[in-house]
Amino acid sequence: MSLAVTGAVRDGQPIGLRAENGVIVEIGAGVQARPEDERLDAAGAILVPGLINGHTHAAMTLFRGYGDDLPLMQWLEEKIWPVERRLEPDDVYWGTRLACLEMVRSGTVRFWDMYWHPEAAARAVDDAGLRATVAAPLIDSGGQAEAMRAAALGSLDALTGAGELVEAGLAPHAIYTVSEDSLRWIAELVAERDIRVQIHLSETEPEVSDCVAAHGVRPAHYLDRIGLLSPRTVLSHGVWLDDAELELIAARGATVVTNPVANLKLAVGGVFPYPRARAAGVQVGLGTDGPGSNNSLDLFADMKVFALLQKHEARDSAAVTAEETWEIATGRHAPALGAARGLEVGQPADFLLLRAAAPELSFGELPAALVYAAPGAIVQSTVVAGRVLMRDGVVEGAEEVLERALECARRLGLAAPITPTPTAPR
Ligand SMILES: [Zn+2]
Repeated sequence: MSLAVTGAVRDGQPIGLRAENGVIVEIGAGVQARPEDERLDAAGAILVPGLINGHTHAAMTLFRGYGDDLPLMQWLEEKIWPVERRLEPDDVYWGTRLACLEMVRSGTVRFWDMYWHPEAAARAVDDAGLRATVAAPLIDSGGQAEAMRAAALGSLDALTGAGELVEAGLAPHAIYTVSEDSLRWIAELVAERDIRVQIHLSETEPEVSDCVAAHGVRPAHYLDRIGLLSPRTVLSHGVWLDDAELELIAARGATVVTNPVANLKLAVGGVFPYPRARAAGVQVGLGTDGPGSNNSLDLFADMKVFALLQKHEARDSAAVTAEETWEIATGRHAPALGAARGLEVGQPADFLLLRAAAPELSFGELPAALVYAAPGAIVQSTVVAGRVLMRDGVVEGAEEVLERALECARRLGLAAPITPTPTAPR
C-alpha cells in the first residue's frame, strides 16, 4: 500500500510526500507520485502533523446533550450511571465510531480511551482507521476487587490482536474508586506486561484532602508509594498538583494530560498549573475528556481554551505561546502518548492537510492562526498510517455511522436528534 501526496505547502514552500506501508519514505519539494501509488492532490493545502487526544471516553458521544448543566454527582448518579448499566457492546461500538468520525473530521489521529466494553471500542477504532490506546475503566468499590481483577485481565485478553493501530492499556478510574490493594495489583500487572496505564488524578480539591486524610500524603505521592508512577503512567487532569508532586511526576517520567474544557464545564474550581509543570519538566498532553463533559471532540477548541486559560490564570499573556500549545496538542511534549516524532522519513504517515482557502489561515503566523482562529473544520484531509480517512472533507461510511449511533441513543432513551433526519457531514 503506497500513497503519494502532491501539491501541499509547508512553511510557505511546496512539498510532497510518499508513504509505503504506513511509513513516510519520501518527503520534500521534488517528491513525485509513482504509478502504483494512491494519489492525494493537496491542491495547495497546508501539511501539518495530526493531533493527539490524550483523554477520552469516546462512546459517550451517545450521552451528548443528556443532563447537561447539572452538578457533577447528580449528573452521574441520575443520568449517566443508570444508562451505562444498560450499555451493550454494540452501543459502545457505534458511539465510538461516531467519536472517531468527529475526530477524523477535526484532525485527531490518535487518542487514549477509557470506557466500558473496550473490545467494542477497539473494533470501532480499527474499523475507523485511527490509532488509540484502549482500556477498560477499573473500579472496585463495594468489595468488587475480585471482579475488577478478572475484568482487567479479561480486557487485556480481549484487546490482544485488536488491530495494528490499537494498543491495550489499563485504566483504574481514580484513587477514590479503586482500593490501595487493587492499585498495587494493577501497578504490578502494568510493569509485568509493559503496558500503559491511565488514571484520573487530582481533578477536584476534595480528592486531595480525602487522600491526605486517608493515606497521609497527597495523590501523586500516594501513587508513587504504590508503584504506579512510571513512564507508562498517564495522569488525567492534575488540576490540584502541588510543586512537590510535579517534581515527583517529572522524576518518574509520568505524563499529565490536561482537559481544560471539561474542567471548566464541570467547574472543578482550579486550573492545571502548566507553567509550574513545565518548569519541573513534566511531560504534558492535551485531552478533551468525554463528550458528556466537554461536549466536543474538536481539539482545536481545546487548544484555544488551554492557551487562554493559562494566560488568564498566570495574569501573563506570554505565559504560553501558540507554538507551544500546538506542540502540546500534537503530542510533542508527551512522547508516552505515542505521537509520531514528526513528518520525516521513517516516521508513521499520520498527518493533516488544512484548507489553504480557509479565511482563518489566509495570513499571519500559522501557529497563532491554528490555535486562536481556526476550528477543526479547516481540516481538509486526514491520513493515518498512510490511509486517507478523510479526503477533501468526505469520510466514507459517515451516513451509516450517524444512523446507527442514533439508533443506539434512541434505544437507550437518550436525547432525541436535533435534526429529524441527520445527513452525512460535508
Ligand atoms: Zn475522564
